[in-house]
Formats: sequence, structure tokens, C-alpha cells
Amino acid sequence: MMIRDQETLNLLLDTVSRFVSERLIPVEENVAESDRIPDEIVEEMRQLGLFGLCIPEQYDGLGLTMEEEVLIAFEIAKASPAFRSLIGTNNGIGSQGLIVDGTDEQKQYYLPKLASGELIASFALTEPGAGSDAASLKTSAVRDGDFYVLNGTKRFITNAPEAGVFTVMARTNPEIKGAGGISAFIVEKGTPGITLGKIDKKMGQKGAHTCDVIFDDCRVPASNIIGGQEGMGFRTAMKVLDKGRLHISAICVGAAERMLNDALRYAMEREQFGKPIAEFQLIQAMLADSRAEIYAARSMILDAARRRDEKQDISTEASCCKLFASEMCGRVADRAVQIHGGAGYVSDYAVERFYRDVRLFRIYEGTTQIQQLVIARNMIRDAANSAR
Ligand SMILES: Cc1cc2nc3c(=O)[nH]c(=O)nc-3n(C[C@H](O)[C@H](O)[C@H](O)COP(=O)(O)OP(=O)(O)OC[C@H]3O[C@@H](n4cnc5c(N)ncnc54)[C@H](O)[C@@H]3O)c2cc1C
Repeated sequence: MMIRDQETLNLLLDTVSRFVSERLIPVEENVAESDRIPDEIVEEMRQLGLFGLCIPEQYDGLGLTMEEEVLIAFEIAKASPAFRSLIGTNNGIGSQGLIVDGTDEQKQYYLPKLASGELIASFALTEPGAGSDAASLKTSAVRDGDFYVLNGTKRFITNAPEAGVFTVMARTNPEIKGAGGISAFIVEKGTPGITLGKIDKKMGQKGAHTCDVIFDDCRVPASNIIGGQEGMGFRTAMKVLDKGRLHISAICVGAAERMLNDALRYAMEREQFGKPIAEFQLIQAMLADSRAEIYAARSMILDAARRRDEKQDISTEASCCKLFASEMCGRVADRAVQIHGGAGYVSDYAVERFYRDVRLFRIYEGTTQIQQLVIARNMIRDAANSAR
């Protein structure tokens, strides 16, 4: 399924673009200072359907294709990444695990609530001892009659303070050390035995929150295991990983476009040596390199998104996009600060905040190094297969 209806899509893109410039950008400084997204903005995000971009229409979502989703992500990311973070988990693993592997009852119960934003979902995989090596996670889930009893600590969980429901990855089979022993559980907020840690003090993305989620003899109904059987959890997560990586890549492009736009405007206004600094070729080089790299990232993301919509395996392409787009975004952030000179280092300009906000993109959803490993591993595998 490619772009389904160009006219409807254009209307949606226009609406989102207007929402970003008229509603989100004007409040983003306030969000950063108060570390909070105003309730009325969250409500407007709900009304626009932003929490259910890629949840199927039969469950009240917008049912966007991957290509459509990245086009929307390019726009949303022109405002502070904190806004995107709030809708990120409902559109990402919080709902996608259910869509690909959930039982009918699970889908019918949870997806409409996630699509409307009535429920915020969090995805709890990372632990103090298990980050890049996520399959080594230790949180345990032990069967006890009609329940599983969960014990363990999850770290850096996005939207945990806001979450109504958590997708928790836990080991149901301690004999199997890697991915095969892991299952995914839907755990509702308020289930006895869950506590939240203090909200993490982050470098950036104020207004988006992460914290520890601690499970202490937390009893979860056995029917809440995603897909209805043990040992599927990690595989479920891997199935939707490519989608998450493309989504984040698109966010990197949107944020880079915003920073470059701010830098260009500044360069055309700011005068030194009797003329706008935009007329200096060394400044032009930074503008041009940024523009070219953004275009490259945008093109590769659209290509990979279309391939995913055609059901091709895009594991390598998704990692290429995440690697290139997040590193590109970091370079653009650096140049954008440089073009602003001293003004780029003080918080009167958005670029100082974006510089800190975008640093995260190279770290989560698989670090740059993990993307490199995935790409090289796939290359070696493919070469070995074709040599056979
Ligand atoms: C703000 C924020 C939000 C997050 N949200 C979530 C969330 O919602 N849910 C969730 O489950 N997790 C979340 N995370 C966790 C995130 O996914 C991890 O931080 C990330 O995967 C890296 O794991 P780590 O921090 O343990 O780093 P480590 O794995 O300890 O990595 C440290 C360094 O070692 C490198 N490294 C590790 N292994 C290798 C290797 N084999 N070869 C080469 N280099 C290697 C890494 O690339 C990195 O540079 C979030 C993190 C942050 C900071």
C-alpha cells in the first residue's frame, strides 16, 4: 500500500504543518521552561489524530502507510522534539506490537484507546544492565496460575510518568538466555507492584519525560501476554523495529530542516564586516552541506519507507537511515549553532535548545554503533548467502 489518496494526504500534511507553526512552535520555549506540554495542546494533538497515525482505521486510527507516516514526521519534527515524544510511543512499539502479534481481544480493547490518545503507552525494554544488549534483560515473569509475577527494573522509559499502559519485556524462560526466553506483557498503570522512579534530569527534550519503572511482585493476568504465548516478545519487538527506526530518521530530517531554516534566516539578517554573514562563502559552505545532507537523508528515508510499504525486508535500509539521519542531524545542529555565533550558545535562540534536544537521536532506538553492526552483519550474511 503506497500513498492511498494524495488529496487527503495533502490536507493532513497542511493541517499538521499549520498546527506546528501556529500552535507548537509558539509554545515550545514555555514547554522547555516548564518541562510540561500544556493540556490544551495535548487535547489538540488528540483531535488531530496524532496519537493514532499508523493504527489501522478499524481501530479508530488514521491507518497511514509508512511513506505517509514519514511525511507527517518530517513536519511534526520542525517543532520541539518533546511534542513528538508524547505521540511517539502510541504510534511506535506501544501499539505496533499489538498490531502485529496481539490477540483480537487485545487489539479491540487497547488500540482504539491508544489511537485516541486516551491511553498513553510506554515501551519498557531497557534495564540498568541491558541497553544495547537488550536480549540480555533480567526482568523475570514467573507463571502463577492465571497470572505472571513480574520482578525487575526498567530504565529510561519514555512517557512512563504519563503512561496508562506499559508494554514490558520480561524473561519467561530463565533457561533460554537470549531473545527466545523473552515475552511481552501489557501491564496497566496502577497494577499493584509497579512503582515509578524519579523523573530523569535530561540534557534536553524538556517536556518529554523518562523514569525507571520498577516491578516488585507485580501480578499481571496471563491473558496480557502479547500474542497469547510465551517466548514471542523479542521477536515481536524486532518486527516493528524497522518502522521505529524510519520514524526516528524522519524526525531527524524535520529537526535538521528547522535548524537549517533558523540558521539561514539568521545568516541573512546578521551583518558583520558590512554585509550579511550569509554572503560569506564559509557560511555558505555550512548552509550548503547541511542542505545536501538533509536532502540525502530525506530521499533515503522515503525510498526505505516505500520499500517497507511494498513488504520488502528493509532491515539494512532502516539501519542505514537511522545511522545517517541521526548523525546528519548532529552535524546540522553543530553548524546551525556555529552560524549563530555567540547567539547560538545562549538560550534566546531555539537552536541552543535543539542542539541539546537532537543529541538523543544518536543514542536511542539503537545507537549509531549498533546500526553500524546491523548493517555490516547483514552485508556479511547476504554475501555469504549469495556465495552459496
Ligand atoms: C531519553 C531516553 C529515552 C529512552 N526511552 C526508552 C524507552 O522508552 N524504552 C526503552 O526500553 N528504552 C529507552 N531508552 C534507552 C535507550 O534505548 C538506550 O539508552 C540505548 O539503547 C543504549 O543503551 P545504554 O544506554 O545502556 O548504552 P550502552 O548499551 O551501555 O552503550 C554505551 C556505548 O557503548 C556502545 N556499544 C554497546 N555495545 C556495543 C558493541 N557491541 N559494539 C560497539 N559499541 C557498542 C554504544 O553504542 C554506546 O556508545 C531511552 C534512553 C534515553 C536516554
